[in-house]
Amino acid sequence: MQENQSYLTLPSSFYKVVPLNPVKHPSFLVVNDQLAEELGIDPDKLKTERALQIFAGNEMPESAAQIAQSYAGHQFGQFTMLGDGRALLIGEQETKKGLKDFQLKGSGRTPYSRGGDGRAAVGPMLREYMISEALHALHIPTTRSLAVVKTGEPVYRERVLDGAILTRVASSHLRVGTFQFARHFCDEEDLKALADYTINRHDPTLANQANRYAAFFSHVVDRQAKLIASWQQIGFIHGVMNTDNMTISGEAIDFGPCAFMDTFNPATVFSSIDTVGRYAYENQPKIGGWNLARLAETLLPLVHEDEDQALEIMQAKLDEYPTAFQQYWLDGMRKKLGLQVAMEEDASLIDQLLTMMYQQQADYTNTFRGLSTEQELEIFETKDFKAWQQNWHSRLQKENTTLEAAKASMQKVNPAIIARNYYVEEALRFAEQGDLSYVETFVDALRSPFTVKKEHQHFQTPPKEDGPFITYCGT
Ligand code: AMP
Ligand code: MG
Repeated sequence: MQENQSYLTLPSSFYKVVPLNPVKHPSFLVVNDQLAEELGIDPDKLKTERALQIFAGNEMPESAAQIAQSYAGHQFGQFTMLGDGRALLIGEQETKKGLKDFQLKGSGRTPYSRGGDGRAAVGPMLREYMISEALHALHIPTTRSLAVVKTGEPVYRERVLDGAILTRVASSHLRVGTFQFARHFCDEEDLKALADYTINRHDPTLANQANRYAAFFSHVVDRQAKLIASWQQIGFIHGVMNTDNMTISGEAIDFGPCAFMDTFNPATVFSSIDTVGRYAYENQPKIGGWNLARLAETLLPLVHEDEDQALEIMQAKLDEYPTAFQQYWLDGMRKKLGLQVAMEEDASLIDQLLTMMYQQQADYTNTFRGLSTEQELEIFETKDFKAWQQNWHSRLQKENTTLEAAKASMQKVNPAIIARNYYVEEALRFAEQGDLSYVETFVDALRSPFTVKKEHQHFQTPPKEDGPFITYCGT
C-alpha cells in the first residue's frame, strides 16, 4: 500500500500527527475481499503479515503519516470539541472507485481521547462491518469496512471484551463537525482553506466559481436529502445523527446504536441514551435539516462580507432541503409501489399504506416486499388493505403498467433481507466466542438483499419477541 496524506496540506490546527499505539497479538477477523476487488486492490495482499500489522496500527504503509483529525460537533444538541479520539487517518489512495480515505478505528489514544481508552471492541466493529455492507448492497452511499482485526488485548466496558480495530474506507472523513471546528476554533483563513480543500475533493466542478461556498452548501444539502430519504425508504434508523456523524460526502457513517426497523412505528428509537427520541425514525429528516443549518452557519463568513446578505443567501439554500428531501422520498416510495410516473394522488396513497402498517403493527420490510411476492401476511387479509389494494391497482392502470411489470420492478427496490438487529446480535454472539461463520453467512445474505437464496430464507423472519431493540452505547 502506498498512501498519500493530502490532509497535511491543511493548516496544522486540523490534525495532530500521532504516534502509533502498537498492540501485542493481532489476528484477522475479516478481510472484505469484495470491497478490495471493487477498489482494485488484490485481496491476497491484504492477508499478509505486513497487512495485518498495518490493520492493527503496528506499522504504517509507505509514505503514510497517521493523523487524528480535529472536529467538533453537536451531540444530542450540545456543542462540544471532539476529534478522532480512537481513530487514525492513515492516508488516501486513488482507487477504481475514486479517491478513498483509509482510517483505523479503535487504534488507541490520541490527543482527542478525553477520558476514553481509544479502543473498540470486536462486537461493535463487526456490527459496523455488517451494517455498512448491508447499506451498500441497498445502493445507499456509505463508508465501508476493509478489514477487522482482533488486537489480542482486552477492552474494559460494562464487561471485559476483546479489542478490535476496523479499517474504514470513506470518500473522506470530512464532517459537518469539521466545519464547526473551523468556525469556532480557527480563523477565517483556516476555514477558507478547509472549504477549498473540501470543494476540491468533493465538488471540484465548483472550484473556480465566485460563489462556490454557497453552491457547495447546496450540493451537501442535496446529498444529505438523498441519503436521508433513502434511509426512510428502507426503514433505517441511524440512531446518533450528531453533527460529527454527518459527512460532507453524503455517505452514511458511524454505525453505533443503529438499526433497520422491524415493526413499522415512526417513533422507533434505538439508542439507550436518546431518551427524548431526538433521533427517532420519524425525526431523521428534520434532524438532517437542523444539522445542515449548523453547516450553513459555519460558511457565512465565506459567503458574503455582509452578514445579513450571507444569511439571506444561505437561508435560501437551506430552504431547498425540505423540498429536495420530499422529492427524493416521494420518488423512492413511488418506486416501492411500482409507480414510474408522478401523480398528484401518490403522496396520499403512500400515506394510507404507512398508516395501515402502523395500525396493524406490520413489518416494514416484509410488507413492501410482500406486495410484489406471494408472501402471506396478516395485513394483507384485512378489509382496509383490500380497499387500498384496489386503489393501488387502479393507480397502476393510470400509467398503463401491468401488475406483473410493477411487481418485477418492485422486487428490485424492496429488499427481502435487511440487517435485522436480532440476527446481527446473534452473529455477534457467535463471533465473540470465536466463530465467525454466522457473520460470514449473514453478510453473504445481506449482499444480495433482493434475491433470497434458500439457505438465507430464515433471515426474512422478524424476531418473535418484538419490542424496541435497544443498543447500548460503549461502542
Ligand atoms: P462516536 O460515538 O464514535 O461518533 O464518537 C464520538 C466521539 O467520542 C469522537 O470524538 C470519538 O473519537 C470519541 N470516542 C468514542 N469512543 C472513544 C474511546 N473508546 N476512546 C476515546 N474516544 C472515543
Ligand atoms: Mg462519530
